[in-house]
Amino acid sequence: MTMSQRMQQGQPMIILGEDSQRTQGKDAQSMNISAGKAVAESVRTTLGPKGMDKMLVASGGDVVVTNDGVTILGEMDIDHPAANMVVEVSETQEDEVGDGTTTAVVVAGELLEQAEELIDQDVHPTTIVQGYRQAAEQTKEILNENAISVSEEDRDTLLQIAETAMTGKGAEASKDLLSELVVDAVTAVADDDSIDTDNVSVEKVVGGSIENSELIEGVIVDKERVHENMPYMVEDANVALFDGALEIRETEIDTEVNVTDPEQLQQFLDQEEAQLKEMVDTLADAGADVVFAGDGIDDMAQHYLAEEGILAVRRAKSSDLTNLARATGGNVVGTIDDIGAEDLGFAGSVAQKDVGGDERLFVEDVEDAKSVTLILRGGTEHVVDELERAINDSLGVVETTLLDGNVLPGGGASETELSLHLREFADSVGGREQLAVEAFAEALDIIPRTLAENAGLDPIDSLVDLRKQHDDGNIGDGLDAYTGEVIGMEEDGVVEPLRVKTQAIESATEAAVMILRIDDVIAAGDLKGGSTDDDDGDDMPAGGPGGPGGMGGGMGGMGGMGGMGGGM
Ligand code: ADP
Ligand code: MG
Repeated sequence: MTMSQRMQQGQPMIILGEDSQRTQGKDAQSMNISAGKAVAESVRTTLGPKGMDKMLVASGGDVVVTNDGVTILGEMDIDHPAANMVVEVSETQEDEVGDGTTTAVVVAGELLEQAEELIDQDVHPTTIVQGYRQAAEQTKEILNENAISVSEEDRDTLLQIAETAMTGKGAEASKDLLSELVVDAVTAVADDDSIDTDNVSVEKVVGGSIENSELIEGVIVDKERVHENMPYMVEDANVALFDGALEIRETEIDTEVNVTDPEQLQQFLDQEEAQLKEMVDTLADAGADVVFAGDGIDDMAQHYLAEEGILAVRRAKSSDLTNLARATGGNVVGTIDDIGAEDLGFAGSVAQKDVGGDERLFVEDVEDAKSVTLILRGGTEHVVDELERAINDSLGVVETTLLDGNVLPGGGASETELSLHLREFADSVGGREQLAVEAFAEALDIIPRTLAENAGLDPIDSLVDLRKQHDDGNIGDGLDAYTGEVIGMEEDGVVEPLRVKTQAIESATEAAVMILRIDDVIAAGDLKGGSTDDDDGDDMPAGGPGGPGGMGGGMGGMGGMGGMGGGM
């Protein structure tokens, strides 16, 4: 049905502009539900270790090959407002925990699917919303009860968590090495009470094999020394961090120089040289062996620095300077005259090394390696790009586990357990909301079902097996996607942080509820065209996307509007 056909069924619109489009009631609901489900459907086949990848080709020809939910949805050109609410679920998940982005979206889609069936049976959306909220509340309790606590010292479990998060993303063959690197990296940057994985920089290097990836406890700067007479390597280095230029800026000499004879010119040049020499002397007097400058270094200054045996780098990024300051214990200084011995940091070794054909500076053996660098290697750019996404998920889950100290069995174990408990809980709810709680329980089965489907297994057999084990009290049993067996996930090493699950269910519920509460979509008239782009058209239901593309920004308020209109 087209937007205009829908509108013909609506009220005469006196208050809206001529070009405005309005969809109300069940039409609005089913349009939004379809759009939300379509988003989930588009990433469902990537879930789990045996999920397939997607190749996304941008209009400019850039190609991304990935299995990562949030990356796929970010690359897709989605412009239906309700669809975007589901995309946001993956973004929240990425920000909060870094992993579980596909899971969150798939659950949101299935909550909408189940809701649609209830709406068809004339259950009012408000009732569904209330039932879903109760069920979501209940899932938190159940998950908390089932959580297994992990201590910082439990390295084996941390390794398993790191490994579980990277499966399915091209890291399998080297997951032993990579999970060691991830756990080492996160523990290196962990303080007593906080962890910031921003202090783990990931450097991608095309060339060599994944097995050559390594962790450098220190900082790698993607720069070379500026002058060939400078040393390649300095041991026991005092490091100056200067956020400025070793140049005489033209703006600093704001008077125009009128040269009338060659002697005057020479004098002027001598004066410039002297100033540059003075700058270098300041650094040398402070005791600097290595200088990282945030801006340019004049040729003459380079020459003087080389004469002093100082290794210098120009145009270091400010993030590099900050990392170096943290790692070496130095201060980033903005004016050269202010640099003194007390501002210098220290590194046991500063050396220029070749990384996959690129020269980089390794600042190692630092006082406090609170920032570390993971060098990821892989045969091609697409391989290292996907590897980086796998590693980022993995870093996120290890960080979350160290912060929260709680994990849950994966492979659909937690969802199966939840589903069973929610069905029991539903009996205590009564009324029509009971139907919604049951629907919520049913919706969670989508995770084990999809894991089975994607692994080429019979989903019904797998679900029956899982339920049987859980009925018998084996609450940690999940589906091993490689063998197809239903076994104890902890022993199998498939574990995930509690927060990955709680956050996924929470955001999925919020998005589904928000979409279900809308019963009136009013799109402003001045929209660009009426249909979606070709790239994602086939992921959208017929007639789904339609007009309200222009409302994306203001959807926050739409839930409320639906509420008013429908008397919810
Ligand atoms: P997400 O973006 O949601 O993290 P993934 O593609 O990473 O999606 O898949 C995560 C799901 O795969 C989780 O439910 C996790 O428990 C499951 N999983 C991971 N490893 C295995 C395994 N070896 N066997 C079965 N399931 C697994
Ligand atoms: Mg994952």
